[in-house]
Amino acid sequence: MTQVEIAGVDVPTGHLIGDERIGGGPGFAVHSPIDGAFLAEVPRGGADEVDAAVAAARDAFPTWARLGPEGRGVLLDRLAALILERVDEIAAVETHDNGSLIIGNRRNVIPRGARNISFFAEWARDRLGGEVIEGEATRDHVRYEPAGVAALIVPWNAPFMLGTWKVGPALAAGNTVVVKPPEWAPLTLSMLGDLALEVGIPPGVVNVVHGIGEEAGAALVRHPGVDRVSFTGSTETGSSIAEVAGRRLVPVSMELGGKSPFVVFADADLQAAARTVSRQFINAGQVCLAGTRVLVEASVADEFLEMVRAETGRLPVGDPRDEGTRIGPLITPEHRDRVDGFVGRALEQGAEVLLGGGRHPFGELYYQPTILGAVDQDFEIVQREVFGPVLTWQTFTDEDEAVALANGTEYGLAAMVYTRDEDRGMRVASAIVAGTVWVNCFFVRDLRAPFGGARRSGIGREGGTWSFDFYCDVKNVSVRRGSFEGGTS
Ligand code: NAD
Repeated sequence: MTQVEIAGVDVPTGHLIGDERIGGGPGFAVHSPIDGAFLAEVPRGGADEVDAAVAAARDAFPTWARLGPEGRGVLLDRLAALILERVDEIAAVETHDNGSLIIGNRRNVIPRGARNISFFAEWARDRLGGEVIEGEATRDHVRYEPAGVAALIVPWNAPFMLGTWKVGPALAAGNTVVVKPPEWAPLTLSMLGDLALEVGIPPGVVNVVHGIGEEAGAALVRHPGVDRVSFTGSTETGSSIAEVAGRRLVPVSMELGGKSPFVVFADADLQAAARTVSRQFINAGQVCLAGTRVLVEASVADEFLEMVRAETGRLPVGDPRDEGTRIGPLITPEHRDRVDGFVGRALEQGAEVLLGGGRHPFGELYYQPTILGAVDQDFEIVQREVFGPVLTWQTFTDEDEAVALANGTEYGLAAMVYTRDEDRGMRVASAIVAGTVWVNCFFVRDLRAPFGGARRSGIGREGGTWSFDFYCDVKNVSVRRGSFEGGTS
């Protein structure tokens, strides 16, 4: 069987290779985090399926590349429009599959998936023509040429949005792709493959191979027919993938884990800051960018903690299919135990519970929004990514101490700084090592801006022109100018 029905939506479950849906063979079961219900049996691909998918992508590449940004753009705009037409269906499947909020999926996450496609189609039309450098001896034509076949490996916390963030620029640049959806939530990227065929994107341009990371994912990274590896996921997995890709010198883009500081100065709009701190619990904290280390100026710490508690108390915990819910379940029992393990070990080390601290009675996979204080910088809970609704709480007395604490982990994905003093905001933002710093805001970003992580949070930047720098081979065609007679290099 290569199709199931979820929330009234027909969802393809097989691999997509060319225009064939391939099921059968060994599989793995997908359950909903909402209530543990069985959703689908998905085939567990390996080296053979990866081989077939890469071959299909290689076959489709020359024709797709030749279409040019204009021709590809017509099809990609149609894909974006079809995603928007099907927002409710895709959102419902995503919510069942990974437990993320239906309200967020409908309003923001899935529409952003459409925007990821149309934005890069437009950017390619406007910018992929390259530029001409008029030198003294030569006229240099800088050309952006598609790299070939891109392997796109995606995590479970927002698979459709993160998958389209890769598929959009890879296809707009003229590459063909093999997508490896996450085994804990594989269904909406499976749908994306069918949507691409439905709008007339030629078979083989988008292929999907399901499976376990260490099997299908690893086979894809090793495959000699793959020219780019774009990965979003944990730092540990990213490091092992970069090592394998490095042996073949295949360029990698790595969007990895984070442990982002949320710095609050005494002069900040504390109410706004408290509201934003409470928002770090949305989707049960399973958000890479979450500001999970609250650093607050000591003089306002007690007052601010009360505000954060009150704001968090206003966020309904419940079934993510209900529009009013703001905090849903963790993804699997295994992940819940991992989150709980972090909290337990922190308490053994001497941390104090300031809020929550354990499982939530709403259901098996629910965890209370939790804040842990009395933590030292070297505690595991401060140093390692939990990927759940767990924040640490530390105080500082001046700007230097705030920056030192903010920079005191191996990560560098994001940071938030709340202050009314704009100069300080810019000063602290430049002193913090991170790919993105938000001053008096969180999460908002223009797609033309660079996105990525410093240190162990990533390699490279995506967004705007940075995505094309990655998905293209940049070539210089240097043409001798008429009057020039010599030159050897
Ligand atoms: P993960 O690293 O376990 O898995 C991510 C993907 O990699 C999955 O599709 C998995 O099947 C695949 N994979 C696993 N092992 C592999 C291997 N050896 N070779 C090839 N592929 C392999 O991550 P996860 O648990 O799915 O996601 C959570 C993590 O993702 C968190 O660390 C989070 O911070 C991070 N994340 C980062 C960003 C970002 O933009 N920086 C965004 C979302 C999530």
